[in-house]
This record gives sequence, C-alpha cells and structure tokens, in this order.
Amino acid sequence: MKKDQFDAIDGNEAAARVAYALSEIIAIYPITPSSNMGEACDAWAAARKPNMFGVVPSVVEMQSEAGAAGALHGAVSTGALATTFTSSQGLLLMIPVMFKVGGELAPVVFHVAARTVATHALSIFGDHSDVMAVRGAGLALLASGNVQEVTDLGAIAHTATLESRLPFVHFFDGFRTSHEILKIRTLSPEQLRRLVDQKHIDEHRSRALSPDRPTLKGTAQNPDVFFQAREASNPWYLAAPDRIQAVMDRFAKITGRGYKLFDYVGHPQAEKVVVMMGSGVGATEEAAEAINAKGGKVGLVKVRLYRPFDPKRFVASLPPTVKHIAVLDRTKEPGSMEPMHLDVIGAMEEAFANDWPRPAQRPRIIGGRYGLSSKEYTSAMAKAVFDELSREKPKNHFVVGIKDDVTHNSLDYDAAWSTEYPETQRAVFYGLGADGTVGANKNSIKLIAENTDMNAQGYFVYDSKKAGSMTISHLRFGPKPIRASCLVSQAQFVACHQERLMQGVDVLKLAAPGATFLLNCLEPKTIWERLPAHIKKSVVEKKLKFYALDAYRVAREAGLGPRINTVMMTCYFHITKLLPGFMDLIKGAIKKSYSAKGEAVVDKNCKAVDDAVSGLIEVKYPTAPVKGGELKSMVSADAPEFIRKTTAELMAYRGDDLPVSAFPADGTFPTGTTKWEKRAIAQRAPKWDTSLCIQCCKCSLVCPHAAIRTKAYPAAQLAKAPQGFVSTDYKGKDFPAGTKFTVQLAPEDCTGCNLCAVNCPGRDKTDPNRKALTMVPLATLMDKEKENFEFFLTLPYPDRRNVAVATVKGSQMLEPLFEFSGACAGCGETPYVKLLTQLLGDRLVIGNATGCSSIYGGNLPTTPYSMNKEGRGPAWSNSLFEDNAEFGMGFRLAMDQQKDYAENLLKRYETKVGKDLAQDILSAKQDDEGGIASQRERIARLKDKLKGIDELPAKDLLQLADGLVRKSVWVVGGDGWAYD
Ligand code: SF4
Ligand code: SF4
Repeated sequence: MKKDQFDAIDGNEAAARVAYALSEIIAIYPITPSSNMGEACDAWAAARKPNMFGVVPSVVEMQSEAGAAGALHGAVSTGALATTFTSSQGLLLMIPVMFKVGGELAPVVFHVAARTVATHALSIFGDHSDVMAVRGAGLALLASGNVQEVTDLGAIAHTATLESRLPFVHFFDGFRTSHEILKIRTLSPEQLRRLVDQKHIDEHRSRALSPDRPTLKGTAQNPDVFFQAREASNPWYLAAPDRIQAVMDRFAKITGRGYKLFDYVGHPQAEKVVVMMGSGVGATEEAAEAINAKGGKVGLVKVRLYRPFDPKRFVASLPPTVKHIAVLDRTKEPGSMEPMHLDVIGAMEEAFANDWPRPAQRPRIIGGRYGLSSKEYTSAMAKAVFDELSREKPKNHFVVGIKDDVTHNSLDYDAAWSTEYPETQRAVFYGLGADGTVGANKNSIKLIAENTDMNAQGYFVYDSKKAGSMTISHLRFGPKPIRASCLVSQAQFVACHQERLMQGVDVLKLAAPGATFLLNCLEPKTIWERLPAHIKKSVVEKKLKFYALDAYRVAREAGLGPRINTVMMTCYFHITKLLPGFMDLIKGAIKKSYSAKGEAVVDKNCKAVDDAVSGLIEVKYPTAPVKGGELKSMVSADAPEFIRKTTAELMAYRGDDLPVSAFPADGTFPTGTTKWEKRAIAQRAPKWDTSLCIQCCKCSLVCPHAAIRTKAYPAAQLAKAPQGFVSTDYKGKDFPAGTKFTVQLAPEDCTGCNLCAVNCPGRDKTDPNRKALTMVPLATLMDKEKENFEFFLTLPYPDRRNVAVATVKGSQMLEPLFEFSGACAGCGETPYVKLLTQLLGDRLVIGNATGCSSIYGGNLPTTPYSMNKEGRGPAWSNSLFEDNAEFGMGFRLAMDQQKDYAENLLKRYETKVGKDLAQDILSAKQDDEGGIASQRERIARLKDKLKGIDELPAKDLLQLADGLVRKSVWVVGGDGWAYD
C-alpha cells in the first residue's frame, strides 16, 4: 500500500476535490458557506484539470439554486455523473427537484455545507435546519463530522449513490467544518478508482434517456396508480443501508479508515449514551473519554447515515447496558420534538415491539438542542449532557450552550472543564480583516502540516463588519489527533496584531496562566505605560511572558508597506520553537507563493523574515497587582437601555453571554444604533480648507458612511459653537443672506476611504495639489472634530420645503437617515442608500434582498438606518435573496389597501372632522416636499379631532391616519433596485 498523502485543507476543498474527481457535470450557484466548493471546481475546470476519468468536467453556473438542481436532474437523467453544492435557502430551493430525483432513483450527490435557515433572522452560520428540511425528499443523508470525514464520506457518497441508486445529500457543518483547516489524509486517484465500481457506472449509463432506446419518465399519474407506483421503490430504500455499509467496508479495505452507519465509541458497558451527528461529535467523544478515564461508563453514537434511518442498525449500535440516552439535534423544530429525537424513540419502540437485538432494559430517552447558527459546542457542554442523564428527573427538550431564562430549558455547564491534551499547542491571533493575519496563520498550518508529523487545525472567526473588522484565528498543533471542532480556550500563545483592538476587547481572556503574549505596537519599549488596565491586569495575574515589536516598522523597512503577516509569523515560530528550521521553511514558502509576482516581492518578504525578530523585545513589567481593569462600556451612558444592556454587549463580543430574555421574540430591533458604535478605524481622515471649498457638497454625496456632512444654517446658531468650529458664508441664493455653511467630519465614523478627498473639486489654482479636503492623520483631528461634530449635530437642518432637493447640493442639505454603516471602506452602493434616505427617508419602507445590503443594513449588533428628530425614518426588513420584489410588492399592496380603507373611513367622518379638512386630505397632491409637509399638518389636525370620537371606526381611522401621507416603497439589493 502506498504511503498516505497528507494535506492541510478545509472542508469545502475536501468535498470539492472528491466531487470534481468523480463527476462529469457540476452545476453550481454560490451561497455562503458552500460557495468555495463551486468556485474551486470552476477554477480547476478553467485550468483544464482532468477528473478521475481523464476528462475535464463541465462546470456550469446557473441562475439560481433551483436552476442548478434542474440542470443536475437533466444531467443525471441522460446518464452523467453529476453533482452540486449548496446551503440553507439554496438547498430549500432545490427541494422540488430533490423529490423528483428521489422518486426516479437517480444517482446524484448534493454536497451541503449545512447552514441555518433564516427564521426570525438570517444567519450564514451552521446548523442542520436546512438538511432536516429535506429529510422527507427521498435522498440519503450522510453526515461528516470533520474535514477528514468530508473527504472520505464524500467519496463514499459518490460511490454509494451509484450502487444504491439513491440520490445523496452529503453534508457537513457550515463554517465549523466547511471553513476549518485540518491536516488530513487525502485520497489518491488510484484509491478512488478502486472504490468506484465501473459496473455501476455502466448500469447508470444504460438507464439514460436516449433516442437510441427511447423511454419516458416523469409521467402524470392518477389516483388509480400513483400510490402503488410510489411504493414500488421501497426495495431500494430497504436495501440502501446494506449497500452503503458495503461501500464503507470497501473504503476501509482501500484506505484503512473504517466507517459505520452508526459508529459507537465509548465504554463497552456504557449506561449513558449521547446520540448526535456532525462536527459536535469530536467534543462529545473527548468528553466521553475523559469521563470514562475517571471510572465513568458513557458512550456516543455518531450518526453517519441519517436517511434512510435504519432503526435496527441504530439499536444494535448501542451497548446492551445502556439505560439513558440523550439525543442532540442541531436544529429547532418549533411546536414539535426534534427530528432525530423522534427517530431514536421510534427505533427503540420498534426494537422492543419486534424483539430485535436491543438493550437489556428500555432506556429513558431525552432530547436537546445545541449549536444553532454555529453556537459554540464544547466538551464541557457534552459533559453537562452526560451529567443530566445521571439525574433522577433530567430535563427533556433541553438546550445547552446558551442561558434560557425564559422557558428555563438550559443546562448549566462548567466552562472551565476541558479535555484538551496537554501536548496540544493552542494559539489565538487577533487581527484586522485586511492585515494578513488570517493568511499568515493559514501558511503556518501548511508549514507545520507539510514539515512535521504534528496534526494541525485552524479556524477563523470574522466579525460582521466589512470595514475594520476583527479576525480571531484559533490554531491547534500537536502529536495527538485533533478532534474537538471548537474554539480554543486556555491558549498557550496569544498574539494581538493591532494595538487598538485591546481598547474594547479582552484579547487575553483566552490566555492560559503562564501563556505567551505577543503584541504588535508602536514604540514597544514604552508599551507597558500605554496598555489598558484590563490588559495589564491579565498579564500580571496570569504571569504571562510578554513580547512586543513594531511589526509595521519592520515591514515598512523591508518594502512591504503595511503587510505585517510575514513578520508576525516569523516571530511566532521564533518564540514557540514549534518548527525547527523555520526561517528557511518560511522563505521556501514565500518563494512558492510569490515567485510569480517577481524576484523583488520574494526578496522583500525574505528580508522581512530576516529582520523580523530584530525589533522583538521581551517586556519586563511590574508584578504588583493592577487596580481597576474593568472593561469600559462600548456605548455612552446616555444610550437607551436596550443599547446599553444588549447592543453594547454584542459590540464587546460578549453576545454569547446574553440570556434568551435579552432578545425580542419576533426579531424586531430598534433602528439608529450605529451612532453608538464609535469605531475610529481610519488611519487618515479629511481636513477641510474653507478657502478652497466651492460648496459643491460632492464630499457628502459620495461618502459611503455619512461621515462627512454639509449643512447650511443661520449665523445666529453659531453663538454656542465650540472654539475652533469652522464655518464660512454660504454661497448661493437659495437661503437668506447671512446663512453659514460647514463641511463637518465625524472622525470616529470615518473609515479613511479617501473618496471625499478624491472627488473634491475645490483646488488651489496655483497649486493643484492643495485641495479643499486633504487626508491627514486622524489622530491630529480626533479630539477637536469629535467636539465639532457633536455641535454640528445640534445645528438645525433647513426646512425641506426650501431646499432644491433634486440637486446634488440641495440633497446634501437634507439629513441622512442611513449613517455609519459597516460596509467596506469606499463602498459604491451605500452612498445611494444614504441619498435615498435623504430624499425619502422619513416616509420610506425598504424590502431588502439578502446579500451585502442585508449585512451592512441589518446585521447585528447595530443598524445604520436611523430616525429624524420627529422619530421618523426608514423601516426595513429582509425576506430572502430571491423574493424581494414580491416582498416589496406586498408592502405596497398592504399600504395601498390601508390607505383606501382610511379614505373610506374619512369620507364617513367628513362631517365630524370637518368637510374642508377631509376634502383637503383626500385631494392632496403630495408630489413635492411642500405637499408632503402640508399633508402631515392636516393629518395631525385630523388625529386631534378623532381623539374625541368614541366610536370603533373613528379609532380605526386614528390608527391608520398616518397611511394617508404618501409612502415610498423600495426594494434594495439583489440584482438591482426598484421602487414605486
Ligand atoms: Fe467618508 Fe471616506 Fe471621506 Fe471618511 S474618508 S469622510 S469615510 S468619504
Ligand atoms: Fe467643498 Fe470639496 Fe466638499 Fe465640494 S467636495 S463641498 S469643494 S470640501
């Protein structure tokens, strides 16, 4: 047998490799977190890489997931080996076709990075709610729990679909497995060739639709035969478990890695057993081992083939001694027991009813939920589940991993209980989205995987903001297999690649006592004085070994600009001594990665390696206890209660600690919350020079973040202006003489994207390099402009009736009701959203399409849609990516209907409220700002009058009266924008 080949890859790449090797037609449509599978196949096909059969598969991107499934159906019907990749709503769009391929016994594989289905909120993270939604479609559902299994069970799925004729969903947990990098044994083409039996390919092809031997499929059937014909496929489903197990057994002979439909691990006489599938099994297996090592008797059934569910095999997999079973479902089925819990109860009923081989006594079976939307699931939580099974009256339908203080279903757990092997090295790296930290850590994993016998695992957590986002890399290296798919706690090494991250985040929370802390900062020699108290406190109390360096200086001097990844990676290996000969190995990797970019790039990176440790110092610090050290609240004390108690906790990355009661039951959140999140992420920001400004207001128009604003206001308003507040005489005749004008920066909200300065036309004619806006270091502006911005906000906006709203300048005199979004710095879309809210925001309803616009617009913790001083502003909701036009049409239909009803009621009350008022309201044109303002005044009068009428229709009219002011409905995002 050939020596095993190792590689460090993520779950998506693992699935894509086997799918590509074993397919002829690959129909794709991207959806997070499965997109990388389709993208990888597309790239390989573009590079003319052959599959296992020596041909380049045809990779086709369709118009939607429904289209991809349709193409797949066609391909398999005409005899091709076909596959696709998807997640979440994408999988749901494939359901009709899944019923078809199931009914037609068409062998095909859907690889699914399992992801939460949107309910009260969208989530791109992982759980089993999508695959559970297709469990009735007639497909085999095969679960992989880690990247190694994705490779292995992926290949088994492609083989078993041909042998069983059941179409397969091969799934693994979105992000937790799809994006986890793990050192695995890869499958060689020879191994795949031995696994796939040509006989079954030939049989599949012989069933293909062909005019050479015409047949007909997809008939319409009537009540006389449909039922019987539907039952005709039973033998295939009954035989499938044996056939799939046979493929697994053959796979074990070829690779040495054996799998069972239900794999039991644990004590052979276990009394307590957990049943689960997916990435959580690793943590539970480690917990079971640790409990058994101390004399416990527990075990775990790893469910691999969830459909068809073979009840006999399941029951046989249990130790005969089992007395208590907990079934963990990574999904929620409101109003019902969770699906796998029901399957296990059903299997046990059948076993006892039919006297199958079964446990000696009927076990007590409880069920619980865990890990929704990639909620962390650890061995400590698994231990809590085993502990619960020991109780006389255990909780049924429990949850673990969150605090449920509403229905009181949660299990308490000891977060400090850990099963980490002492030999495993654990490291956590804090960085920023674009600073190369994640890339460097991926390279570190590759280096260790390729050059040592150690196992390696990497997982990367990104925050929701697109500009200035924080990344946390969790790395494990060690001689023993790394099974737990969970975040690192008790890290022996913590690196913070950005000094500013320490201000609001406890970057040392995960540091174990005695760990090493590496910080990239300016002036390392004086860093101790500048450290926030909470960091000092952790360093002293945990007795950390503390290193610091100015990686930006090293990178700059090596010619790499702000890219510090090479420097930080070198320091990591220098300090930890994990990788003997690391300098040469890193340089080798650099040559491999950058040689296509030229010798100069390679040389600069190699210089950075050589110089990296030159500036590294060990920081000696006083060991006296540090006073204080509590993290400051992320928001000011004047923020509303919900912002202080909930939103601020999310901003501080403590959302995991919030209980169920902190959240609205229906997913409704307040708007106008980005203003509380002062991120100060810009390095440089614009400075205004009044003498060069032509007052065009283009700066305000193009700013994607509403971080630079223009306003015209009466001179008298300056009476309370802070010293240094800049203003100038307004140029133009649209406001009275004496009007003042200011271009004001919101320094803590600027992203430094430079768009305002680039687009500013105000130049010095004698020196074109001098402009009305110049980018300068933010630090030089911060304090003054913060004060100025606060004052600027108190200045009144001009009366909208006097503003030429249809001009660039006029529009920028209106209040933006979309501000400080977390969109990418320089976003090209958000200036339009902001302009929309300036023109129509106080009477605007937005039906959003899932995508970028739902992330910058409605991703927790904060939303940029805001309100004016009357409390009016855009109302926003998101349905799906696919249906926002229809969603918006629903808004329009409802509002028109309510307006018609209100008009009818108003006609009935014409006499009581006054004929003139009623007629004025009913005939109001509302086609400009004046018309809208007048209608608002009339509605206010109408409401006053209605308050005095104690009749049901009058109360109805009072409630609906605001609907008589014209509203604007927009659908935003997706393939485009539209309105009515
Ligand atoms: Fe706005 Fe960018 Fe200018 Fe900052 S630099 S004010 S974010 S346009
Ligand atoms: Fe003045 Fe330049 Fe802004 Fe125009 S873009 S208003 S010239 S600062």
